[in-house]
Amino acid sequence: PFLTDPALTAVLDAIEAGGHRALLVGGVVRNAVLGEPVNDIDLATDARPERVSELAASAGLKPVPTGIDHGTVTVVSNGTGIEVTTFRRDVETDGRHAVVAFSDRIEDDAQRRDFTMNALYATRDGQVLDPVGGLDDLRARRLRFVGNAQARIREDYLRVLRYFRFHAWYGRQVDPAALAACAALADGLDGISKERIGVEMRKLLAAPDPSEALSLMAQAGVLAHVLPGADASAMPDLVGAEAAAGITPSWPRRLALLCTDKTVTALLRLSRDEAKVQARLAEAKAGDWSLNEAGYHLGKTLAVDHTLTRAARGQKLPDGWIARIEHAAQAGLPISADDLMPQLEGASLGRGLRAAEEAWIAGDFALPAPALIDVALLAGKGDA
Ligand code: ATP
Ligand code: MG
Repeated sequence: PFLTDPALTAVLDAIEAGGHRALLVGGVVRNAVLGEPVNDIDLATDARPERVSELAASAGLKPVPTGIDHGTVTVVSNGTGIEVTTFRRDVETDGRHAVVAFSDRIEDDAQRRDFTMNALYATRDGQVLDPVGGLDDLRARRLRFVGNAQARIREDYLRVLRYFRFHAWYGRQVDPAALAACAALADGLDGISKERIGVEMRKLLAAPDPSEALSLMAQAGVLAHVLPGADASAMPDLVGAEAAAGITPSWPRRLALLCTDKTVTALLRLSRDEAKVQARLAEAKAGDWSLNEAGYHLGKTLAVDHTLTRAARGQKLPDGWIARIEHAAQAGLPISADDLMPQLEGASLGRGLRAAEEAWIAGDFALPAPALIDVALLAGKGDA
């Protein structure tokens, strides 16, 4: 269906109008063959980047040079960006940055891609081109490196992590050579930028079920290089709890189960907001917050996340737990500082309010305001 997408059609028309070839490549072809949803559309072409820009502009599309040294131009068509990358062949590498030269042949281009199932191409009428045997591996649900696994990893150590990321999404069988190479070269990940690692880990953890990939990663000694101290053993239970509750997978929740160490922020280059979410979930975990506490303090979404990770750690979830969280999330404390002043002020006011909150939560949000004021005054004046 995406083959008839007008944005895609316009870009293909523009490139072909210049006498060049343009093919769908990578994730879009892989997912289409599997019948899975397509995230973004990537094109490969024999046209050089300047030529792609020129042809796009003459067709009234907007070319943006998003990765010009890798040969990538993003063509904005109908509001969607389509990445168009010139066929390339690898020249030499230092293990962090691939140095590339352009080529006219998809056979060259396929050789520099990471996994055979990521080196599938398709024409606009849906014919699949498979220069490195990716279809067989895709059907067998097996991630296999293009070429020698160790050699390919030495060119770019991020591929170790990409191996487990794609296994999490699409793998069922394990290519022993690939896994052994990842295990042998795991420490190369130490030299990879945290941004790139963060991108792959977010995607890995967002897979429907990342349990097996994480357990392979742990066994291969790879997890310890990415997230020291992470424990993936409860992941199958979390995935089970999510499925039982009909709740969509989310990487922040999976990450919160794996580790609650503050270092994740730096290790995965979390944004400020992402780090805040992890900190809130870590606090909830440390306090082993109940449904009422979680709902009241975290709001619905995070409270659901926390409660599912709690279930993965062996807590039974009562019937109607989501409704209880929703109720708690909406149950604002019916008294405020104004009700306690001037009897309480400063530190004792804070103490009083906290005591009232605790009583409010513990009493299932049913205590009347005068009773809460009594609790607050008592606690506030207590050991002043
Ligand atoms: P997704 O659906 O998650 O976007 P994808 O296959 O499109 O999956 P990307 O990371 O977007 O994955 O990369 C696009 C394509 O570029 C891959 O399919 C692969 O062919 C190639 N590629 C990306 N990164 C590398 C790498 N580090 N080494 C070799 N090839 C790579
Ligand atoms: Mg992609």
